[in-house]
Amino acid sequence: MSILENLQPQNVLRIFEALCAIPHGSHNCKAISDYCVDFARSKGLAVRQDGAHNVVIYKEATAGYEQAPTVILQGHLDMVCDLAPGCTRDMAKEGLVLRTDGAYVWADGTSLGGDDAVAVAMALAVLDSDDLPHPALEAVFTTDEEAGMEGATALDPAWVTGRHMLNLDSEDEGVFTVSCAGGIRATCHVPVDYETAQGIFCGVILKGLVGGHSGVEIHKGRANANRLMGRILSALTAEMPVHLAAVVGGQADNAIAAECVATMVLRQEDLPRAAQIVTALGESFRREYQTADPGLTVEWRQETAAEAHEAVTTAEAARRVADALLLLPGGLQSMSQDVPGLVQTSLNLGVAQMAAGELTATFAVRSSLTSEKRWLCRQLERLMALLGGSVTYVGDYPAWEYEKDSPLRELVCDVYRRQYGKEPKIEAIHAGLECGIFAGKLPGLSCVSLGPNLLEIHTHRERMDVASLERTWNLVCEVLRRCKELTV
Ligand SMILES: [Zn+2]
Repeated sequence: MSILENLQPQNVLRIFEALCAIPHGSHNCKAISDYCVDFARSKGLAVRQDGAHNVVIYKEATAGYEQAPTVILQGHLDMVCDLAPGCTRDMAKEGLVLRTDGAYVWADGTSLGGDDAVAVAMALAVLDSDDLPHPALEAVFTTDEEAGMEGATALDPAWVTGRHMLNLDSEDEGVFTVSCAGGIRATCHVPVDYETAQGIFCGVILKGLVGGHSGVEIHKGRANANRLMGRILSALTAEMPVHLAAVVGGQADNAIAAECVATMVLRQEDLPRAAQIVTALGESFRREYQTADPGLTVEWRQETAAEAHEAVTTAEAARRVADALLLLPGGLQSMSQDVPGLVQTSLNLGVAQMAAGELTATFAVRSSLTSEKRWLCRQLERLMALLGGSVTYVGDYPAWEYEKDSPLRELVCDVYRRQYGKEPKIEAIHAGLECGIFAGKLPGLSCVSLGPNLLEIHTHRERMDVASLERTWNLVCEVLRRCKELTV
């Protein structure tokens, strides 16, 4: 039963609905990838699929467009799976249940994955059409974008010959993204040693922080729970022997840590002073962050009886952990001098965890300047060396730097102006996009990122604006029709 069949653009939404019937959370992309391969084959189009389940589909230029440069239509196959409280849907195995009121499309009880199935649907609809004029096309569908852009990283650049790319993974109609930060995930390792300690088991619970995305919200002055815990542990270890049992803070390297819990064993006689230190710092934090994090709370808990606790850190190791969390840099580092309001460089201590003989502190480091990214990594490395630790890296991706002259950007903007009667917004962002990976892999690439309005992506409240999709679809078709104007 097709629920979207009376909405426009009809073919885009027909394909979108088919994609939504296939479960496609990150790391579960084989089925949707195979669907795209079958789609290409059924249309007689050349197609390639790699071991990461990335798909590239090739379509020849329509008559009269043989001389126009090849255009890449790009989006990602995976989605973020989020369930509403109480929803029992198994998103690994079951497709989505679509709903619409004519103005919006959403999924019942789950995220919609309009980010980024709508890109795949638009690209497939172009490939499917017999009447849209267009240049030679390469549709590039990547996997596991939401899990660290793994598909784009794995893709063989030789499979992509075009140098003009429309990335369809934006969610703000009329805002065209033309530059993004590069980044790397850095994990600092501080060794700890354990012993058995006699004393009272206590805990500090920092919670109620706003958190947020470490790329787009790092400049908002919000507290990072892991770094605040560093201040508390540092104050405690300065005055008394502390034996840490656990430190657990944050959810992901790219999310500002909204919660951190530390448990420890203290001597009975130190408890009143410890409670005092934690309470006083809690009050300071609430004052410092009363605007950015009005819900911040710091709780102190203690058990009553003293006993022997195994596998807690030595007091010396606890001081090392405290030093690391206190001294590791974090947050906004510099603003762009060229693009007003753009964060140039930042890092976020997203996850802090003490387990298996070490404290690990995992950062998302971002910069639109590779040299500043390297500088921050160097700081982490030297600080770890001083604490007897080390740094490991994964997921290094280059910045997508702003192109001063871009005929593709000019064309997209001109089509927009004629269609909408106003200026589009041109944006550079302080977050990673697949465009950055492609800019690194495909020398000379020109790229613009755009898409229809998608609200509250990555949550079960996600919804797609249907009228916005229709306008965006018209824009994409018109750009393809006019791309003869692009010089190679
Ligand atoms: Zn996306």
